[in-house]
Amino acid sequence: MTHTDKVPVALVGIGKIARDQHIPSIARNETFTLAASVSRNASVDGVENYTAIEEMLAARPDIPVVSLAIPPQPRFKIALAALMADRHVILEKPPGATVSEVDTLEKIARERGKLLFATWHSRFAAGVEPARQWLAERQIRRVHITWREDVRRWHPGQAWVWEPGGFGVFDPGINALSILTEILPDPVHLTSAELDVPSNCQTPIAARLTFTDGADAQVTADFDWRQTGPQTWEIDVETSDGRLKLTDGGANIMINGEAVSIPEQSEYDAIYARFAELLKRNESDVDLAPFKHVADAFMLGRRIETDAFVE
Ligand code: NAP
Repeated sequence: MTHTDKVPVALVGIGKIARDQHIPSIARNETFTLAASVSRNASVDGVENYTAIEEMLAARPDIPVVSLAIPPQPRFKIALAALMADRHVILEKPPGATVSEVDTLEKIARERGKLLFATWHSRFAAGVEPARQWLAERQIRRVHITWREDVRRWHPGQAWVWEPGGFGVFDPGINALSILTEILPDPVHLTSAELDVPSNCQTPIAARLTFTDGADAQVTADFDWRQTGPQTWEIDVETSDGRLKLTDGGANIMINGEAVSIPEQSEYDAIYARFAELLKRNESDVDLAPFKHVADAFMLGRRIETDAFVE
């Protein structure tokens, strides 16, 4: 496919994840090309830059795909504007600020014959599909998730994460839950949660969660944004027939203590490759399972006030 045959994409929100992942992955993709950006403050070299979604939609009817790399709080209005202008929409995770708003987007996309792709980048980590296959035939006994990272390192200056709808430690924690809900053969549901909320914030800095599958499996999660030094993103699964551990956010896998060799994979390259497939098949992909677990944690969680967060 030559550059001009490629499907033009507009990228909205030129922040950390847009620069780190979306722009390079779109540049490497054989189906898509970046044709425009929308950002109130930033611009991307070599493409048309707009400061508001409405301007871009009016000026560029030739762009059929709009990819949103903005925080969850402004997501709905911008996604809605793109769908109402008959564009396909790709949503960063988490797909919105509330579960119901994403249901609304899905309904509108369906009615207008447009595609909605609620992405979960961690599901495209290299170890996730092999883990899903290995676990499919086994009985799960225990799962423990450890997702501990340093918020100052990964979210410098991002005040939105502490505001309502900003998810706090669930912003990375939902990545673990997106893997969990992909690899386990049966669904689980939350039974209890403790949320450590800094006295000057609206969202938790740490959370401890317990889930059940309604039968024998026990699932626990430990999310913490206060970890300095080595960072830990691991899911440890004990089954009736051996043990599997995903490490490095799902990029690596160990079975019964032995590292398994798997090819490396860029999560965001895989996201755009998947959207190319969805486009061919004219299919949306909206799985809200990880998002519902976070909503449940906010519903069921016991709040514990902790030290004020000072960046
Ligand atoms: P960020 O660096 O704070 O960037 C956010 C971008 O969204 C900025 O360009 C900002 O645009 C725009 N934006 C912020 N508030 C807006 C508003 N009210 N209306 C319109 N645009 C607004 O955030 P990020 O880290 O890229 O995260 C964006 C999304 O990606 C989040 O949902 C996050 O969970 C997800 N994500 C982040 C990472 C990561 O490592 N950071 C990894 C995976 C996924 P302006 O230029 O217009 O100010």
